[in-house]
Amino acid sequence: VNPLGVHLRAMGLGGGYVSIEAADVTESHRLARVRRDFVANVSHELKTPIGALQLLAEALVDATEPAGEADLSEDMVAARRFAERIQHESTRLGRLVQELLELTRLQGAEPQPPPEPVSLDWVIAEVVDRTRTAASARRVEVVVDGARGLTAYGSDTQLATAVANLVENAINYSGEDTTVRVTARSTDDHVEVAVADQGIGIAPNEVDRIFERFYRADRARSRSTGGTGLGLAIVKHIAGNHGGRVDVSSTLGGGSTFTLRLPASPPDDLEATLSSAGI
Ligand code: ADP
Repeated sequence: VNPLGVHLRAMGLGGGYVSIEAADVTESHRLARVRRDFVANVSHELKTPIGALQLLAEALVDATEPAGEADLSEDMVAARRFAERIQHESTRLGRLVQELLELTRLQGAEPQPPPEPVSLDWVIAEVVDRTRTAASARRVEVVVDGARGLTAYGSDTQLATAVANLVENAINYSGEDTTVRVTARSTDDHVEVAVADQGIGIAPNEVDRIFERFYRADRARSRSTGGTGLGLAIVKHIAGNHGGRVDVSSTLGGGSTFTLRLPASPPDDLEATLSSAGI
């Protein structure tokens, strides 16, 4: 049960005005849930045909590999180019659907796992491992820096997804022979992971918009990174679900630093708080 809904309905017993507000809140929550369920169902149904498309495209790319001089006819070269394009686009579509599913999951279509202590050393090592191929393909060096032994609270897979999205972006929006620095830090009552790159940067008028779903800055749009525009929306949701936030500081042409900030202590049990308040 949504805690806000419960709270307002409890208050609504005493007055009509609050009851109407409570009904509105409940209805808008219901509609939001219907919308999330719809996106989750559609995305799920799309996964199978897209997977089939990806496999067929891969087979087509292999089949159009020139076997020798005779195979290098104009038609054959064009066929291979088209097959590669189909493969690229179906991979991108697959990512889009996967990220849409991820986002709806984070928005509450599925229950969140109970919070657990998560080692930031593990998160960072996992992310470095996951992004190794992309980094070497773009000749970007990922350097790990800062404090060791820090702990956050929440879901290890979600936190790894969030940091991986930041590191993938840092790699994608950087030039060759640059460095991406991943730094773990502990502040008063928070732990942080900062991801700093020496890449293209973000214009001041776009910085506020990049966390919106599907928003891609102009310079990114013209780059063929295969991005979906959902990565940072996912990071923002994960940060929010963990009681934290994500910030960015960036200079156009001078690189960007994204910082994921998380509470250093476990979250209060919401149910316990509600029941101790008699709600
Ligand atoms: P995308 O799939 O396009 O990377 P994201 O949601 O991850 O989507 O990011 C949204 C936009 O924010 C990107 O399209 C790009 O314009 C900008 N952006 C994100 N990270 C960086 C970065 N490290 N350097 C420059 N621009 C970035």
